[in-house]
Amino acid sequence: MSISNRNLSIEPITQQVLALIRSGHLAADGKLPTERVLAEQFDVSRRSVRLALDSLEEQGLVWRKQGKGTFAGQPADPTGDLAARIAGETNALQVMEARLCIEPELAGLCAKRMQPEELARLRGLAQRQFEANGPEAIELWDGAFHRLIAQCARNRPLLTAFALLDKIRTNPEWIRLRARARSEPSLEVSHCEHVTIIEAIAAGDPELARIAMRDHLTTRFEAMRLELDPADSAWDTVPLDLDT
Ligand SMILES: [Zn+2]
Repeated sequence: MSISNRNLSIEPITQQVLALIRSGHLAADGKLPTERVLAEQFDVSRRSVRLALDSLEEQGLVWRKQGKGTFAGQPADPTGDLAARIAGETNALQVMEARLCIEPELAGLCAKRMQPEELARLRGLAQRQFEANGPEAIELWDGAFHRLIAQCARNRPLLTAFALLDKIRTNPEWIRLRARARSEPSLEVSHCEHVTIIEAIAAGDPELARIAMRDHLTTRFEAMRLELDPADSAWDTVPLDLDT
């Protein structure tokens, strides 16, 4: 069976697993039920469940721990603890400012280092986001798109900085803010911007990739600013507490 046929046949199971992840009914550590339980629950073969999990793992939406099972999201690392510590001392706009500092550079490095099969996955993620329904699904695929770029830049310190921001931005309130900042036309704009980023990376042009990513984040940044209440703008003048 070709890869695309395979993906097509497991698509409904992939969607069911994603619905389960988004339902918020998983344990706190994000552990999914076993393949056997999922197979019974979805009334499909264990092999199909395994293939669906393979595909989700490839897309960075689940990860497997030897002998422990499959978990939603990405493995916990020290950035998670640090993100939790500073989340209350920062805000969505500061996170956007920080993303503007590092993500264009990550896209630039990606243009030099991304492998053809990774590029194919990136195209797949952009398409998934475009076809996604509902704010959670859109966030999920958009996050996976930006994460894959960060990983394929192949720079560990920058990836750690990205992972920290990625972790902070899972704050539910900010997800709601970003959801409000997305409208039907803005989704199309986002998709076009994602495609522009992909084409610059595919062309192996770091400068174009940097510009494309900067443009994309700037558009999102402006949309978020418009959604903020004037009270939230007081964040711009949050007193600094640099002793901690
Ligand atoms: Zn995006």
